[in-house]
Amino acid sequence: MSVPSTIQQQINTLRQELNKHSYNYYVLDAPTIPDSEYDRLMRELETLEAQYPETITSDSPTQRVGGQALSQFAEFVHKQPMLSLNNAFSQEELNDFDRRIREKLNLDSIEYTAEPKIDGLAISLHYENGILVAAATRGDGTHGEDVTQNIRTIKIIPLRLQGDDYPAILEVRGEVYMPLAKFNAYNQQQKQKGERVFANPRNAAAGSLRQLDPRMTASRPLSMTCYGTGIIEGGTLPDKYSDIVACLKRWGLPTSAYFKVVQGAQGCWDYYEDLHKQRAKMPFDIDGVVYKVNSNKQRDIMGFISRAPRWALAHKMPAQEVMTELLAIDIQV
Ligand code: NAD
Repeated sequence: MSVPSTIQQQINTLRQELNKHSYNYYVLDAPTIPDSEYDRLMRELETLEAQYPETITSDSPTQRVGGQALSQFAEFVHKQPMLSLNNAFSQEELNDFDRRIREKLNLDSIEYTAEPKIDGLAISLHYENGILVAAATRGDGTHGEDVTQNIRTIKIIPLRLQGDDYPAILEVRGEVYMPLAKFNAYNQQQKQKGERVFANPRNAAAGSLRQLDPRMTASRPLSMTCYGTGIIEGGTLPDKYSDIVACLKRWGLPTSAYFKVVQGAQGCWDYYEDLHKQRAKMPFDIDGVVYKVNSNKQRDIMGFISRAPRWALAHKMPAQEVMTELLAIDIQV
């Protein structure tokens, strides 16, 4: 079946739009539309591409992770790609995710972990013999920005791990973010000085971390929560992610106080409802919950699609943001 030209035209327009917004968001840290609108455009493109698979190209926004790295930073190549997450917007989509995993693993029930999806930016930390030697942004998933000097200014990130049972080479991944109270206080201060404010905590974190002068980053109140590992050499980690999180905590790395092991789709849903109720009182901005298959052996069987693992799901919460004041570019380039 050939693709009607009106459909191809619609697809091209959506791709152009999404690429433009992706650039504003990831490269400039200055989005011009709400995330919910971006998600809606992405869904529209995904639906059309699912109907007409022959239109899918490797450079389509549906196949790509994030944006490109800023050339002002040294490039950092991720040996293990930093991927995105598949999204769900309803309980039905969560149940579909669980059903696909149960069918593939041939199990009646799956053990998952659940944790908040903090709205910040993904960072990879590299420890060698317990010493922080490098840190990088996700970039396009393979090519990130080397932000080692800036990361070293964030006090919650240990420069040296505690204990002595960590792998010789350990890559830890997590989200750098600006706590809400600090974000509000920072914007208030900026307003009083008549200076630029950040559009939301996500842009505040990304704009603050991607400064060419680490002293600027040091002056911004950033924090981090770790949610996974990457390259491991010269040692092993437990099979279960929940046990790995316990190791990270023991080694002095910041982990989520909201992290929980849950059973099956119902356990995931209960966690989601509970966190949704707590959302307004949480000390940081979240845009959903992330569920992950707990066992790494099971994750290996599930594998990946081009831009996301099949064993994890970001269950989005309804948007809270209002795009009122937009930040002009806050990167010293
Ligand atoms: P994503 O934000 O949906 O999910 C992947 C990211 O989640 C990871 O890279 C990581 O940084 C983060 N994350 C937070 N907590 C996590 C946890 N506990 N475990 C694992 N990962 C965790 O995907 P994405 O590809 O980074 O970005 C897509 C989103 O960005 C869209 O949903 C859209 O809302 C937003 N966006 C908005 C615009 C805009 O113009 N407003 C443009 C581009 C993208």
